Amino acid sequence: MPKKILFFENLRILSTSVFLGIIYFFIIRLMKELSKSQKQIQDMAITDELTQLYNRRYFYSKLNEEVKKAKRYKRDISCIIIDIDFFKKVNDHYGHHIGDDVLRNVSNTIKSNCRSIDTIARYGGEEIVILLPETNKMKASLLAEKIRKIVQDKEIPYDKGNKIKVTISLGVTGFLSDELIKLIDSNQLVKDADYALYCAKKNGRNRVEIYNNVE
Ligand code: GH3
Ligand code: MG
Ligand code: MG
Repeated sequence: MPKKILFFENLRILSTSVFLGIIYFFIIRLMKELSKSQKQIQDMAITDELTQLYNRRYFYSKLNEEVKKAKRYKRDISCIIIDIDFFKKVNDHYGHHIGDDVLRNVSNTIKSNCRSIDTIARYGGEEIVILLPETNKMKASLLAEKIRKIVQDKEIPYDKGNKIKVTISLGVTGFLSDELIKLIDSNQLVKDADYALYCAKKNGRNRVEIYNNVE
């Protein structure tokens, strides 16, 4: 082949390769962006926007999954429901916006005192639920008491050095591995914790109540 033709042929191969390389680079980048966006959409679907905790829907799916696991592998499981005391007064006195900050702050405090295997979700307006796999009721109530005290002692900053203090009430329940046969409906765990919470409110607030002890 004449040298000139060979040169142009090599140039053509080179430019085609560079062109394909650039296309490949952009496709990889696009795919990475796409999977990042997909992950963000998936996270948004299971996350509560205000508190960044899991939402109620995700909590219930996790509850089913964890109860099944606890039964299969014969492990204890517990649940804590938390409600901020007199939260309406916080909103009325400081405004809804500051109320949101308080709710966020309490949520972060709770989350930072839990383990990575626990599921912490916003259950309702100012109610937070924690699902604790591999945990008996006694350990769960110790954690509940620890969180109660931390929140009670915490000063939440809101405006130019001013601080707010709030308290929480907590309801705890749990099933030991050998009691799990009695847990027909996984929602019962939440119902029991909710009843204990109701008792904590009734018995004066800023306290922990355990399901069996209040019957
Ligand atoms: P208790 O001690 O009995 O729990 O009294 P409480 O005032 O906390 O309870 P109640 O259920 O009467 O009021 C809860 C309040 O929480 C009412 C509602 O306006 C407020 N709330 C619910 N969701 C939000 C929210 O996302 N942001 C703010 N700022 N307030 C909220
Ligand atoms: Mg409340
Ligand atoms: Mg409430």
